[in-house]
Amino acid sequence: MRISWEPVSLDTKHTFKIAREDLTGDKFDNVIVRLEHEGVEAWGEAAPFFIYGDNQRTVIAALETWKPFIERWQDPWQGEAMMAELDSVLERNFAAKSAIDCALYDLQGKLAELPVYRMLGLSHDAVPVSSFTIGMDSAEVVRQKVREAASCPVLKIKVGGPGDVEVLEVVRREAPEATIRVDANCGWEPHQALKMIHRLADQGVEFVEQPLSADNLEGQRWLYQRSPLPLMADESCERLEDIKHCVGRFDMINIKLSKCGGLRHALKMIGAARAHNLEIMLGCMLESSIQITAAAQISPLVDYADLDGAALLAEDPFTGVGFDNGKLVLPHGPGLGVERRQV
Ligand SMILES: [Mg+2]
Repeated sequence: MRISWEPVSLDTKHTFKIAREDLTGDKFDNVIVRLEHEGVEAWGEAAPFFIYGDNQRTVIAALETWKPFIERWQDPWQGEAMMAELDSVLERNFAAKSAIDCALYDLQGKLAELPVYRMLGLSHDAVPVSSFTIGMDSAEVVRQKVREAASCPVLKIKVGGPGDVEVLEVVRREAPEATIRVDANCGWEPHQALKMIHRLADQGVEFVEQPLSADNLEGQRWLYQRSPLPLMADESCERLEDIKHCVGRFDMINIKLSKCGGLRHALKMIGAARAHNLEIMLGCMLESSIQITAAAQISPLVDYADLDGAALLAEDPFTGVGFDNGKLVLPHGPGLGVERRQV
């Protein structure tokens, strides 16, 4: 098997602002990974995020370290053993592991001439509607963004700033029929969060994602016992081992391929979450249609989707999953079904 990669800078249509200023940006540096086996090429993508210890340089360094191991791989159907080998060579580096894991699924699907969802026994009809994310901004810019998202029946609003109440009122006025979810990205303290969540409940918000910081375990338990709305773990739930800590603190978890290391691990998390009666959303980073489509392939297994990362880009270098009034439309092609966009 051969591996090559290409660093890419993805520009967003709008500057992406959330409750943490250090995470605001309009350019996201990802890495596109290509595996090649007996003339078949397969794609994966690393969307590194520094709060999880990854960036474009660490992804490339990991790929360079793994390259000699990957190039000794003979049998593309030994995914479990191959990913275990990468784990034994380098811990963490989950964004880079996700790129390789998703590329292996793409390769296997192409060899079997089946879409990944078909290989997993899933139905393309059972996909959820994806939310469309509205980043933090002035009321005027938020109004504009909500108008641009008119075809999306589910909006996810980033909050955690001083203008939250006003912004939510603008969204409600502009999109009276929309389902509204809220993501505070660790932006609140417990008492403030409870007060805000009561107001959000009055405005018909569906659920609240990560109201408190990930290390505030006591606060999360306190809030969970009092919150009138369901609470979702994102920063508090990176991997399989985090799920047990979400029980009694959250009602739902947000699984992202870049946090957990790829489809193989995400499938294990879905099983564990079900065993603990946690609802599941599949989320994303700012990423192209490669990794968005990879996540969409397993979306028939989850309750909610927030797979708008590619839709927020000014230009998406790949084609893949589509949207029909927000509902995910899986591509028919084998593997992930992604293709490089012709320019
Ligand atoms: Mg989130």
